[in-house]
Amino acid sequence: MECCGHLSAFNILGERYCREPDDYYDKDMRASLTRVVDTGAYFTYEYDFGNTTELTLRRVGKTKKRFLDEKIAVLARNDEPKYQCDYCDKIAVQVCSECIYDGGGWLCEECAEEHECGEDMLLPVVNSPRVGICAYMG
Ligand SMILES: [Zn+2]
Ligand SMILES: [Zn+2]
Ligand SMILES: [Zn+2]
Repeated sequence: MECCGHLSAFNILGERYCREPDDYYDKDMRASLTRVVDTGAYFTYEYDFGNTTELTLRRVGKTKKRFLDEKIAVLARNDEPKYQCDYCDKIAVQVCSECIYDGGGWLCEECAEEHECGEDMLLPVVNSPRVGICAYMG
């Protein structure tokens, strides 16, 4: 999700967890997940309060696998969605960060070259819910 250091928060059982919590409303994001979320429970995560990307998450359980080398290990991954170019039948490889606000802007290689908003607006199509937003590159 990370693109340029925006603020983010977890929403768990009506409480908001932030990195820099405000004394009245927010709780500290460093709280242990196992203590605040029951197994099987759903919660949400918001990244960037301006152009928010929101995820619904669920705690599924503990893993018995041990990770010795890596600090972050991928346990599961979604199938990459394929987007069709808005102007032809090909698969989109770029997305216009301007046109995406109107629900479009998916572009194949050739159509990207002729896109009216210009090359600077284009972002790569990546496997993330934040594809095409802000300066997100994957
Ligand atoms: Zn950003
Ligand atoms: Zn095309
Ligand atoms: Zn555009």
